[in-house]
Amino acid sequence: MLADMKGMNEECGVFGIWGHDKAAELTYYGLHSMQHRGQEGAGVVVSDGRELNVHKGLGLVNDVFKQAKFSEFSGDKAVGHVRYSTQGGKTHENVQPLVFRSQTEGMALAHNGNIINADKLRGQLEDQGSILQTSSDTEVLAHLIKRDGMAINETSITAALNRITGAYAFLILTEDKMYAALDPSGVRPLSIGRLGSAYVMASETCAFDQIGATFEREVLPGELITISDDGITSTRFAMRGQRKMCAMEYVYLSRPDSDVNEVNVHAARKRMGMELAKEAPVDADMVIGVPDSSISAAIGYAEASGLPYEMGIIKNRYIGRTFIQPSQELREQGVKLKLAPVRGIVAGKRIVMIDDSVVRGTTSKRIVHMLKQAGASEVHVRIASPPIQYPCYYGIDMSTRDELVAANHSVGDIGKMIGADSIEYLSVIGLKEAIVKDKTIHQGICTACMTGNYPITEDREQQVVYRD
Ligand code: AMP
Repeated sequence: MLADMKGMNEECGVFGIWGHDKAAELTYYGLHSMQHRGQEGAGVVVSDGRELNVHKGLGLVNDVFKQAKFSEFSGDKAVGHVRYSTQGGKTHENVQPLVFRSQTEGMALAHNGNIINADKLRGQLEDQGSILQTSSDTEVLAHLIKRDGMAINETSITAALNRITGAYAFLILTEDKMYAALDPSGVRPLSIGRLGSAYVMASETCAFDQIGATFEREVLPGELITISDDGITSTRFAMRGQRKMCAMEYVYLSRPDSDVNEVNVHAARKRMGMELAKEAPVDADMVIGVPDSSISAAIGYAEASGLPYEMGIIKNRYIGRTFIQPSQELREQGVKLKLAPVRGIVAGKRIVMIDDSVVRGTTSKRIVHMLKQAGASEVHVRIASPPIQYPCYYGIDMSTRDELVAANHSVGDIGKMIGADSIEYLSVIGLKEAIVKDKTIHQGICTACMTGNYPITEDREQQVVYRD
């Protein structure tokens, strides 16, 4: 059963640039702006038209690249990747872009998403004699492209893409071409930008702003883009399905200054807060948000409710996101290290505490406790997204159902468990309304982790049709 299977979880960022003499350096800056999408490893592969040069490693972008190294990268085309993963291991060979070389040509692959039939394909490839070097699902695509000694081109890439199922945004760099592909449901974001005469590709548009590039358009579901010195071309490797953009990109994953599917993330989060204020009002003294990802929703809640927005929690910005720490015990320590209450603001006050989402419930519990210890008289928790009850198989680390607190407990129980005076979540419809008003587009948003309606399944027969 799909719902019991634990997928390879990768929430990553990809970046590519074609036709700029500072390709490697710009890729570094682009990746830096998408660091929030993955902190376990980073890599850049550059092509000078003759060979692929790779530099990658475990750790943050800054740790992996030292400025001095860019002079060693010659080439005007590059792809880069930041990686977050829970499975596939924190090992160097899984850090992307993955590079494959044959006697005639090489290929670098950078992937955001999750191939859900990777295990099956891996078995088939191994039966046919392939030896896979990594535990990453991305390598499966490389083997499918190079099957039977095929050259790397639109035909072989199209054939390979048609064998994989899942959510993916791929960048492929060969010595003289760059390819970009988005799965037929377009679950993950991928955009095209321009920087002078150069083409830029990025998971998030904040990477364009970072390097002074302009947004051109989104890659379409089922589209294969080819960039070469002759320019850019587009083909369809699959029938364009209805877009199923991941709701969590808006709720939590993407940076507030990015536009996802042409909707600004901060604005969407603010509207989530406004919807929440309408759906779940509270008699309180102030609204506070959990930094950083909940600030936009808290501002929206405050604006719609007329309550003052206050800075009730401070984040130590020198500590990474809690969720990169693997064990529950470490996560709990992480929260303690990362957030501090502003005692002088919250003491004696009735607080509405906005969080963007609850996954395991660890963060909310610690924050409620922290606020109460700092003297808050009441803490009312309002979550700016619906309960996450189902694992994600499309590239977000949502773990197994066992670890999702809302999969196993009622909202009321969660409130008691985290010590809140009250708790309410945003409804699914409220979330969709906040992302986009136009109801005809609501079906184009994937809410599988909240509803269990999986738009893509390994067995296409099982595919669930959205009914809102
Ligand atoms: P917790 O409930 O303790 O697991 O943490 C929930 C917090 O982690 C939320 O407030 C989000 O800011 C953040 N978050 C949201 N989605 C994820 C995710 N897929 N993986 C890790 N953390 C997440």
